Amino acid sequence: MPLDTAAPHVFQIPMRTRFRGITVREGMLWRGPAGWGELSPFWDYDAAESASWLRAAREAAEVGWPAPVRDAIPVNVTVPAVDAATAHRIVSASGGCRTAKVKVAEPGQSERDEVERLEAVRDALGPSGAIRVDANGGWDVDTAIARLRVLDRAAGGLEYAEQPVADVPGLAAVRRATHVLIAADESIRRAEDPFAVVRAEAADIVVLKVQPLGGVRACLDLAAEVGLPVVVSSALETSVGLAAGLALAAALPELPYACGLATAQLLTADVTADPLLPVDGQIAVRRPDADPGLLAAVAAEPGARDRWLARLAEIEAVAPRAARG
Ligand SMILES: [Mg+2]
Repeated sequence: MPLDTAAPHVFQIPMRTRFRGITVREGMLWRGPAGWGELSPFWDYDAAESASWLRAAREAAEVGWPAPVRDAIPVNVTVPAVDAATAHRIVSASGGCRTAKVKVAEPGQSERDEVERLEAVRDALGPSGAIRVDANGGWDVDTAIARLRVLDRAAGGLEYAEQPVADVPGLAAVRRATHVLIAADESIRRAEDPFAVVRAEAADIVVLKVQPLGGVRACLDLAAEVGLPVVVSSALETSVGLAAGLALAAALPELPYACGLATAQLLTADVTADPLLPVDGQIAVRRPDADPGLLAAVAAEPGARDRWLARLAEIEAVAPRAARG
């Protein structure tokens, strides 16, 4: 049987706004018997850490996903660390999202920048919308406790705060000191032991991402074991990768919060003519095919293609195929 990854399409797609420190999203896509799969670990993930991303891509391409229990997923609009006017515009153009996730704790920005951003988001969203913040672990415990008090007021109430500090004991300390709900993201996704969060009572909610956690089934198993409400988020994939997140959100027994899957709009292009974008704040559960013409349009330049092929070989070397029954 030929290697599933024998003919990958390597893509490079500029971001609309710098996000997570990147301006161009890169990765590989290939088609297997079950459909298209995406492998797009960020470059700060080494080969060993990227093995779970490859497992997710193989699941998508070779196995497919469990049956959905819902046919549309409420999603949040994501607001990067932009100025207030831009934040307002992003929320207003979000395709009817009723929930906004706002990036905070960006290096070089002040509390005032964050307050103004949150006020603009509240104005654009209206009083009934939900606002969550994501600090990506960027605060220390004292700053997080003080800042959440200010931002909770500026936002007219925060739905939750995602990863206010980097480590699990810190999350637990912040959670004890604030009434704002705490969501764990990096502490689940990049942790040796995702259950440390549960044992330390460090979070009210967990954020699960399909690629870093090794696939839709792996996430469903983890969700069942963790026993906390789940928010499914993307890793800034193309619509091919986002479809896996949608499949997870669609298969979870409970889905109390909007998911972070409306991120196709952060990219300047996509690989399908029918991208997974929200309508009335929801994305219909479906699985788009990559389009040959659009794949060609976002094809990586040769140097990047070579880097990704070398990277794939490295990841495959540390990610032996699991025997499947
Ligand atoms: Mg996050």
